[in-house]
Amino acid sequence: MWELNEPWPGERFHEAAYTVDLGNWEWLKSNEEPGTVRYILMKDISHLLIDDNIQTVELHNIAWRGKHHHPYNTGENCFCCKERPALRYLHADISYPGIIIEGAPNPYGNRYRMVDGKHRMMKMLNRGIKSSQFYVLNCDEVAPLLRDHI
Ligand SMILES: [Zn+2]
Repeated sequence: MWELNEPWPGERFHEAAYTVDLGNWEWLKSNEEPGTVRYILMKDISHLLIDDNIQTVELHNIAWRGKHHHPYNTGENCFCCKERPALRYLHADISYPGIIIEGAPNPYGNRYRMVDGKHRMMKMLNRGIKSSQFYVLNCDEVAPLLRDHI
């Protein structure tokens, strides 16, 4: 029996890297060579998760990992979850806002880059929801918080 173990809030992170399956999520500093992997730790941006930063955003403007796979290998068949049905999808609480960064690089050329909340995104899309509330952070505010290691 699988157990859901959500490492919130301290240990969750977003990886900024290229992979064949998910595309180019690199977030390079200026004049930096491609191939550099960086991380955004949720604990590093938690001070920005305030009510003043919550906005209503249309889901189609948000880049999230696996977006181009949806509805295949998402939801109960989520590509990042090992068990079936995918527990992180089943337990995703869409009443809690995901975290997106306006103006951050992403493989879809979307206005927003999601760094937390893809299972909630899958669930909202599967329910036909078109827009929702998100913590919207500023690209310039988050860029200095990118880490080389976790
Ligand atoms: Zn998953």
